[in-house]
Amino acid sequence: MGNAAIPHWYEPKHEPDTFVEGEGARVYNDEGEEYLDFVSQLYCVNAGHSQQHIVDAMTEQAEKIPYVSSGSRNPQRDRLARRLTEKAPPNMSNVVFSISGSEANETAMQIVRDYQDAPKILTRWRSYHGATYGAGALTGEPSTRTVLEKHSAASGHAKFLPPLDFCGPFDADTPEELGEQAADHLEWVIRNEGPDSIAALFTEPIAGSSGAYPAPPGYFDRVREICDEHDILLVADEVITGFGRCGEWFGVQTEDLQPDVITFAKGVTSSYAPLAGAIVSEELGDYLEREGLPVGQTFAGHPVSCAAANAAMDVYGDGLIRNVRDLEGHLESHLRELEEFPKVAEVRGRGFLWSVDFGDPDAEDNAFLFDPRVDEGDNPIETLREHAHDRGVVFGAGRPDTQVLICPPLCATREEIDEAVDVLAESIDATF
Ligand code: PMP
Repeated sequence: MGNAAIPHWYEPKHEPDTFVEGEGARVYNDEGEEYLDFVSQLYCVNAGHSQQHIVDAMTEQAEKIPYVSSGSRNPQRDRLARRLTEKAPPNMSNVVFSISGSEANETAMQIVRDYQDAPKILTRWRSYHGATYGAGALTGEPSTRTVLEKHSAASGHAKFLPPLDFCGPFDADTPEELGEQAADHLEWVIRNEGPDSIAALFTEPIAGSSGAYPAPPGYFDRVREICDEHDILLVADEVITGFGRCGEWFGVQTEDLQPDVITFAKGVTSSYAPLAGAIVSEELGDYLEREGLPVGQTFAGHPVSCAAANAAMDVYGDGLIRNVRDLEGHLESHLRELEEFPKVAEVRGRGFLWSVDFGDPDAEDNAFLFDPRVDEGDNPIETLREHAHDRGVVFGAGRPDTQVLICPPLCATREEIDEAVDVLAESIDATF
């Protein structure tokens, strides 16, 4: 009794760890045992676990003035808004702060629906956009949806298929063809839903917790064209992909994609404190300045969190994003060696966001790979992660439970990558 509750989908087979300390890419439990944190604690601690610069900035702000309401100005908040729009793609002018990723997406929904005077949002199957009442209705991961049906608003939105080759209905010979087919399908969904009823399309530029999959070449060019043609705004959910995770400040920059809104959370403060928000285009920024914000949240843009974010941005710019670019090839080539294992179906990702998918890529009816109802008790991926845990490395659990996600802090070294991937190989060997 008296313990903090753990969401059922996150509960590992073993007793949950009690982590009490962290240093760089490593965390330590209450018995002093060391683990390489190759999931950055839910893809959050991008800067690593011991950034004194961030701690100092938070302390300094808390000592000056702990909280300033969103109706007043604060230098840390203003500076952060300026820096975020400078790092985002061109023509993004304003930031609306929030607290969590779900709430940032709720905020973005409110803004685009207000601006467009249209109710529907388009999202992808196998996406994650949050678990709150509104954002939960956007989430398109089938296994999570079955839970969210009870806990989020009746959707009223529309879903479309992601450009995935081995579990979608597309039949393409090349990645380019896959991108074309998936974009054609999107256009079909829009025409059937009625373009005038759609305010925006939300998408992760590189799908995160649902499997670290980048889009095929040309796909996002078509998506942008289709949105423009039908007057649909494009919202990039960068809750995982932002702040260096994919080798640039934002994931859209690895796709050369110009969104109308970017939502962010997690990495913005390296999760030293909760902070999230939406960076909006000049057009939306002008609208918000003219009309005012539809709503607000008390702790949105908390000054201590903004101080943490400004300090985290210093650290990212000072070499951590470069570290991802320097080492992503090394991480990829090491992970690709795992394709030798017969049970490894696919290795995918970008930057420091990767997935190893298990199953048989040639099977006609690959229930193990794609059935969201895989019995948790029999799930070999949990066993695999357990083996890795016993060997001192924590990996992420993808959704559906057919994947292991590899998502180290951006400060991870070449040696730490080698150590973690060697453990992953040993764990695959021990499981299958
Ligand atoms: N969007 C994406 C892409 C996410 O991965 C998440 C959380 N993992 C969210 C939104 C929701 O963020 P939060 O849990 O902070 O509400």
